[in-house]
Amino acid sequence: MKSATANHFKILIVEDEEKISDIVRLYLEREGYAVKLAGDGAAALKFLKDKYDLVILDLMLPDMDGEAVCAAIREFSDIPIIMLTAKSSEDDRVAGLGLGADDYVVKPFSPRELVARVKAQLRRSSPSVKKTMSFNKGMLVINTATMEITKNRKIILLTSTEFRILLHMAERPQMVFSRAQLVNLVQGYDFEGYDRVIDAHIKNIRQKIEDDSHKPLFVKTVHGAGYKFIGSLDA
Ligand code: CA
Repeated sequence: MKSATANHFKILIVEDEEKISDIVRLYLEREGYAVKLAGDGAAALKFLKDKYDLVILDLMLPDMDGEAVCAAIREFSDIPIIMLTAKSSEDDRVAGLGLGADDYVVKPFSPRELVARVKAQLRRSSPSVKKTMSFNKGMLVINTATMEITKNRKIILLTSTEFRILLHMAERPQMVFSRAQLVNLVQGYDFEGYDRVIDAHIKNIRQKIEDDSHKPLFVKTVHGAGYKFIGSLDA
């Protein structure tokens, strides 16, 4: 993202530890972002009545936990949310993302890394984002505007559900998604037997885009956790 456009973005940092929020604010302001601080969840929800472009949300807040704040934000907004947490196990990561956070940074983190994540999220949510994503040197191309997929330049027909699942994972390479998350994120609600429903969709996607479903280049099974997209995005 050009720095000339960066100062149009407003970022809300929700964190009660001033040492952390001050340094994050410093780094973001240096990039040209407008930054506001909220010391607790109630203040954050109040500030978010105004327009912001991204929220950095600490998990441990004095009045309510970050997960509850995240869930409350998701009731009225799809703003990108990056969670800060001291928990680092993959289960916590998956749980946090299941609540609708877009990314997760584990404390202690480098402010530079956080800034890079912020930029990535703003790029994704920006309407000027590239409409085509190409992976593994053009082997797989996803066109988000036409909902068209090509594999080795041949058009692959996916159902709209298969397309949404694949796109959701491909936009976040290497991130693990549980089956419950894929159902929640794609359909917006839970229903009985979702594990098998998701597995069936993944199987179909693999049959269409993988050369060998047992050695997938794109959609990998993470045992006990779910699935992740492992294709590498072309520059
Ligand atoms: Ca805190």
